[in-house]
Amino acid sequence: MNRMEGKVAIVTGGARGIGRQIVETFAHEGAKVVYSVDMGTGEYELPNVRHVQLNVTNRAQVAKFVEEVKDEFGKIDVLINNAGITRDALIQKMTEDMWDSVIDVNLKGVFNLTQAVAPIMMENGKGSIVSISSVVGVYGNVGQTNYAATKAGVIGMTYTWAKEFTRKGAAVRSNAIAPGYVETEMMATVPDKVLQPIREKTPLGRLGQPQEIANAVLFLASDESSYVNGHVLEVTGGLKL
Ligand code: NAD
Repeated sequence: MNRMEGKVAIVTGGARGIGRQIVETFAHEGAKVVYSVDMGTGEYELPNVRHVQLNVTNRAQVAKFVEEVKDEFGKIDVLINNAGITRDALIQKMTEDMWDSVIDVNLKGVFNLTQAVAPIMMENGKGSIVSISSVVGVYGNVGQTNYAATKAGVIGMTYTWAKEFTRKGAAVRSNAIAPGYVETEMMATVPDKVLQPIREKTPLGRLGQPQEIANAVLFLASDESSYVNGHVLEVTGGLKL
């Protein structure tokens, strides 16, 4: 299928994990161009993928990059706010730096990209923004005060943008995905003694795969979800933390 045919898409955190799977899925679904944006390097052989090394916390760099995309293609159809980090500790041991760095990437990074891209979408009268929250932002989690705050914040921004970007009759949709535990490098640091109870608490009895998140993102990014706006889709195998 060509569910992304003709579309110009930006995916943050596209070098690895869930972001990489989203980039590849969009590319295979016929996107005109998919920008993989990451502070790290990322190699792609796909002809319609361009990797851009960029830190989402750097507002000036973000604005310049988005302007360049607009100049070349005249539009941006899809923005996926996926870049995110964890710096876990119980609140008694959480340093100011741990708090600030997670807020900076997971919250301000999403703000930076969306603020730069949304006016272009509104001018064109349509667009789809999908931000990756987390089951932790919905239910909370021990040791993740900073991360939970950002992922709940992403949901608040998503609901706000669903109202704000449609005010002038533009079909600029804003939705979020709240994944459960997904097998990526981010999870590699989590010991199995923590993951095993998660598997057991998950009705489907296993962790998720990046492709299963990318499939949900594809639905929300494509025109198939044209009447879905302001929704948080849990992709968790049924897990409620
Ligand atoms: P990951 O660590 O494997 O990949 C994240 C990518 O984001 C990396 O390539 C990293 O370089 C990039 N990144 C980090 N900071 C950046 C910055 N400042 N600027 C640009 N790029 C930056 O993580 P993942 O597991 O693929 O997670 C992707 C998203 O999904 C994150 O927002 C994460 O919070 C969310 N999530 C993941 C899980 C999970 O279980 N893996 C569960 C729920 C939500």
